[in-house]
This record gives sequence, C-alpha cells and structure tokens, in this order.
Amino acid sequence: MIEENIKQILSELPEGVRLVAVSKFHPNEAIEEAYKAGQRVFGESKVQEMTGKYESLPKDIEWHFIGHLQSNKIKYIIPYVSLIHGVDSYKLLVEINKQAAKADKVINCLLQIHIAEEETKFGFSFDECREVFHKEDWKELQNIRLCGLMGMATNTDDRKQIKKEFCFLSEFFKEVKQQWFTDMESFKELSMGMSHDYHLAIESGSTLVRIGSNIFGERVY
Ligand SMILES: *Cc1c(COP(=O)(O)O)cnc(C)c1O
Repeated sequence: MIEENIKQILSELPEGVRLVAVSKFHPNEAIEEAYKAGQRVFGESKVQEMTGKYESLPKDIEWHFIGHLQSNKIKYIIPYVSLIHGVDSYKLLVEINKQAAKADKVINCLLQIHIAEEETKFGFSFDECREVFHKEDWKELQNIRLCGLMGMATNTDDRKQIKKEFCFLSEFFKEVKQQWFTDMESFKELSMGMSHDYHLAIESGSTLVRIGSNIFGERVY
C-alpha cells in the first residue's frame, strides 16, 4: 500500500514540488517500504525518534525536521539533518547557528510563519518576520542557510479558509524574497500542504508538501 500511495501522490505533484514523506510515529519497516519505492526525503517531528531512525536506516535518506525544536536538543540533529522546517523564533535560529558552528556545518532552515487561526500553532507573524529581516543581524549567522518559509493552515473543512491562508503565505514569501533574497538562489522553498490540504497548497505555490497519513495511514500515538 505504501508504495502505491507514494506513486499516486507523486503522479499528482507538478514539476518543482517535492514530497516530504512524514514518517513520525511509524516504524522503520514503513520507511523501508517507502524507501524501496524510491522515496528519499522523510519528515520527523521528534528529535529522539528521528535520530534513532537516522542511525538504523540507509544513509542516503534526507531527514527533514518538521516539529517544534527545543534548544537543548538541536545538537543531536546537527550532524545529519538536511532541512529544519519549523524555526519559530529568532532565538532558536541563533542557537541553531551556534551549534552548527561548533560542528562546522551550515544548516538549511525555513522560518515558520503562523497563518492558522488556532493559537496553538507555532510561528512568526508576518510582522515579526519582517522585523527579523529588517534588523539584519541574521546576516551574521554564518552557519545558517535560510531556504524559505513554512506554514500550516487551520485544521478545518472550510477549503476557502485554507486557500486564503496559503495565498497569504505565498504572497508573503514573494515579498520576502524580493526584499531580502533576490540574489540568493537558495531562498526558494515554500513548505506548505499536508494530507488533507496539499492540493490547495500546490495551487498556491508550495514547493515542499509534507504528507504523512495519505502515505502511511493513520498514526497511533
Ligand atoms: C504530522 C505533520 C504533517 C503530516 O500530517 P498528515 O496530515 O499526516 O499528512 C505535516 N506537517 C507537520 C508540521 C506535521 O507535524
């Protein structure tokens, strides 16, 4: 089933949109099945879980951290993580830079923008994010490569609401790109879209969809 699900999803993705298979709470066997189907990019939301999987699975897997990252755990993922999607404060960015410097690495990061109505979702508001870029201290973070933005829409059946939030984020991405990153080719990723809303996200310009349940089935917590 996993293989078929991946093929199905890949056939729906336009060129330029990559699939992050969200394997959190699923065992190594499930990841191996996806791997056999050719999938190499996996998303995890817990440091310990991701590190365990990294250690026991093939080394050509690209591990994306998509959860809320705690400062004291950054060091465990620095050696191997290929993209951190959810950087939700400037303080965290500074801390990632510090740990990355110690390990002599440059870490790819996305800033998480709060676009949903729920209070519980993490991230910068548009204004907080503009403020970070205006201050320009971020330019001194030599061990960070800012690759774009990430967002999660409200968990709702209201398609219009979801679409609106993705459009806001997409517009904001263009603004940021134009103001601060025109010369930086690496700033190009817009991570948005999950199992129930990735079609809408793609319509709005997503470049990375993070899909779990539609590939691996429901998670058992
Ligand atoms: C769990 C998770 C996903 C995947 O959700 P599905 O609904 O299973 O596709 C995507 N993004 C983030 C940030 C997540 O935590």
